Amino acid sequence: MPELPEVETIRVYLQAILPGRQVTAVHHLDGRMVKMGSWDSAGIAAHLPGLMVQSMERRGKYLLLRFRGNVWLVVHLGMSGRLVMAETDQPWKNHTHMVLEFSGGQELRLVDPRRFGRLGWFEAENPDAFLFLGPEPLGRSFTGRYLRSRLGNRTTAIKSLLLDQALVAGLGNIYADEALFKARIHPLTPGQDLSEDAVIRLTRAIRSVLREGIRHRGTSFSDYVDALGHPGENQEYLTVYGRAGRPCVRCKEPIRSIVIHQRTSHFCQHCQLP
Ligand SMILES: [Zn+2]
Repeated sequence: MPELPEVETIRVYLQAILPGRQVTAVHHLDGRMVKMGSWDSAGIAAHLPGLMVQSMERRGKYLLLRFRGNVWLVVHLGMSGRLVMAETDQPWKNHTHMVLEFSGGQELRLVDPRRFGRLGWFEAENPDAFLFLGPEPLGRSFTGRYLRSRLGNRTTAIKSLLLDQALVAGLGNIYADEALFKARIHPLTPGQDLSEDAVIRLTRAIRSVLREGIRHRGTSFSDYVDALGHPGENQEYLTVYGRAGRPCVRCKEPIRSIVIHQRTSHFCQHCQLP
C-alpha cells in the first residue's frame, strides 16, 4: 500500500508538470471510487473541465490536486491504486477508474484493480477542514513531546498506534516496522510503556525512515509505481519489512513476523525490546 514516501514521490513529479494546466475533459470516472466529498461522479465530471491546477499537494497518504478557487480533488490510492501520467494516444489499461485530460495533451490516469482507493471533491481553503489527520511526521509539530502526550496511558501495541492516521499521518505497515526496528522498540510494547528516551528515538526513527524512503523514490513490492510508471528502489534498503526468516542486519538472528491487529509485523526479537 502506498505510504507517505510513495505518495510524496508521485506528488513531486506531478507538481513539476501540472500547475498552470487546465482540465479539458474527464473520462471513465467510476462512481464507486467516489467515497467522500461533496459531489458524486456526475457532479465531479461536470465541474472539473475548465479548472486550472494551482498546485499538487499531499496530506498523509492523500494526494491533493488543488485547483484555483479553493477546489480540491482528493485521491487516496488504497491498496493497489496507481496515478500515472500518459500521452492521450496511449490505450487505457484495464481497471482505469478516472482519466483527467489536460491542456497540452497529456492525461492523468487512476488505475486501481482492487478499487480500495477513493476519490472526493472538496471546497475549502485548507485540507484540514475536510481531512481529519494527525500531524505530518516530517513537519514541525511532530515532536517527542507531542507523541508522548498522545501515547498517554494507551495500552494498545505501539505498532498499531503508529498506523492510526489521527495520531500521525502517512505511516503504514512498511515504514512503521522499519521505524520501530531503527528505534529498537518491540512492536507489541504498549504505548504507555515507552520511556521518554524511547519516544524521542521513535520520532527520529520515523522521520529518518520516511526521508530515506523518499530519497529512494518509494518502496515497490507488487503494485506501487511512480507517476511515470517506474518502481521505487527503497525495497533494496529495508531492514525488517518483508525479511522474515532472513538475518537481522544488526545481530544476524532471523527476523520474525507476527500478526498484530490483523497486520503482519516484522521485527528482530533480539534487537527490539519490549
Ligand atoms: Zn537483531
